[in-house]
Amino acid sequence: MSARVPFIAGNWKLHHNIPAAVALAGQIVDAMEPLARAAGPSKTVEVCIAPVATALYAVAQSVAESELLLAGQNCHHEPQGAFTGEVSPALLRDAGASHCIIGHSERRALFGETDAAIALKLRALLEAGLVPILCVGETLEQRDAGETEGVVIAQLRGALGDLSASALATLIVAYEPVWAIGTGRTASPADAQAVHAAIRAELAASHGDSLAQAVRVLYGGSVKASNAAELLSQPDIDGALVGGASLSSELFVPIIAAAYAVA
Ligand code: PEP
Repeated sequence: MSARVPFIAGNWKLHHNIPAAVALAGQIVDAMEPLARAAGPSKTVEVCIAPVATALYAVAQSVAESELLLAGQNCHHEPQGAFTGEVSPALLRDAGASHCIIGHSERRALFGETDAAIALKLRALLEAGLVPILCVGETLEQRDAGETEGVVIAQLRGALGDLSASALATLIVAYEPVWAIGTGRTASPADAQAVHAAIRAELAASHGDSLAQAVRVLYGGSVKASNAAELLSQPDIDGALVGGASLSSELFVPIIAAAYAVA
């Protein structure tokens, strides 16, 4: 890892009702405190969870005194209006979120989200003062065709558009190869590092070195305790976006511990 503060995020997807979400968030907070104390003040790891939208407010209330960060799993780009079933960035903030995942491959594949739609969401989050966690990643067919970097960079460009470096100061990118999500297959640390380095090089070319060095690029795709340390020790992997292994503290906390170990 680097001078960038490691960021470990748990995407709970469509799991955990309010009592279960509040209980798990409490277990994570209880485990974070001794890890932070043992690491000392010079080592920081940011930890963020994305519960289902209906549990966000209750979880926020229950962890209000802690360092645990909260994220939405998606948002709509309009602040309000006749958009049945949607949630705006301001409402996510109102419920206690400081971050929001956008462009997750499940949203792209199952709900038809395009780069253009994700670009609107990104702008809306920044305007509302939320930190976007922008997901990019290639399918297995694209990887096998040698298109990985082209696909990932096109998704990045499509989302960032002409936003300035200062507008993007808080941006977090998550590289999530689609074939590694929920499959138990993980990109090798070297393969993941190569894509992360390509993302950082693209950010440097488009927005300057200072932004490129500041943006945290997370890896996502079957991260677990047994592979976290090796992935997180790659120079351009600044953290993890974790799905399945974020659904219990037994699986998630060792990943946070791995981030402290390499911080
Ligand atoms: C995800 O959904 O963002 C994810 C990375 O899932 P998993 O860790 O289960 O592969």
